[in-house]
Amino acid sequence: MPGLIDLHAHSSVSDGTETPAQLIGAAVLAGLDVIALTDHDSTAGWTEAFDAARGTGITVLPGLELSTQLELASVHVLGYLVDPANPALVATTEQIREERLHRAETMVSRIVKDYPLLSWDDVLAQTTPGATIGRPHIADALVARGYVMDRGAAFQGILHWQGGYYQPHDAPEPVVGVRLIAEAGGVPVIAHPGARGPNGLLTDDRLRALVDAGLFGLEAHHRDNVHGDSKKWEAKARQFGVVVTGSSDYHGEGKPNRLGENTTSREVYEQIVEQGTGAVPFRG
Ligand code: AMP
Ligand code: FE
Ligand code: FE
Ligand code: ZN
Repeated sequence: MPGLIDLHAHSSVSDGTETPAQLIGAAVLAGLDVIALTDHDSTAGWTEAFDAARGTGITVLPGLELSTQLELASVHVLGYLVDPANPALVATTEQIREERLHRAETMVSRIVKDYPLLSWDDVLAQTTPGATIGRPHIADALVARGYVMDRGAAFQGILHWQGGYYQPHDAPEPVVGVRLIAEAGGVPVIAHPGARGPNGLLTDDRLRALVDAGLFGLEAHHRDNVHGDSKKWEAKARQFGVVVTGSSDYHGEGKPNRLGENTTSREVYEQIVEQGTGAVPFRG
């Protein structure tokens, strides 16, 4: 069966700029056959996405992108088809969202000293109730106050990890995150393994431990994997016997990433569906 399969996208349930329903609309327009909804540390958008997909012919692969931490660097673990009611997963994601909220407040309290028009209410105004808060929402508040042009400019300056206001947020180690997803019936895949944070930290020893914990794949095809690295991560996937995925990491207008710019093969998609036991894809 033909059709593009894009296994990583965000909605306003985290730091995407479109609601889950709008995201599904955009995925249909982009001609995708399968779209995965993978909000940061939240499954709250699934139902709206399923409802929007009904009758369109698109399939929604429900998932999330779990925040984990390794030596102060962020490592993101995609979890497809997790049981959204799994108590350990619910508890951990709630804790991470809470931690992200406090961390964002800390960053804003530092930023307001130099950018006095900014307030915490400005940041809240850029989020939907219950959303997973991140630097992109602070960026949107800075844009609204006219301090920066767009999210990209905010990340290059004020919100940069070396920008003087940065605060990391606590999260479990990747191996804990992978196990959590696997034990919730999900399929864990390391997101953008070659991005600035994880690249270099994901040594062979660590990859072995992740595979032993249940790692199923590596997102070798992603624009944040530094140039030429997709070959490296394909080779790592072969070496460790896990699958290769590719995806856009679409955030609506919040990032230049376009739906379908990287895709996953039908064969790998079917392996993921077969592996996941916590939920099922929604065929719209
Ligand atoms: P945080 O998780 O709060 O540290 O923020 C990181 C998030 O910001 C990532 O999930 C990305 O989606 C987003 N992000 C990172 N760099 C940029 C950028 N240059 N422009 C827009 N969004 C970005
Ligand atoms: Fe994001
Ligand atoms: Fe990510
Ligand atoms: Zn993402």
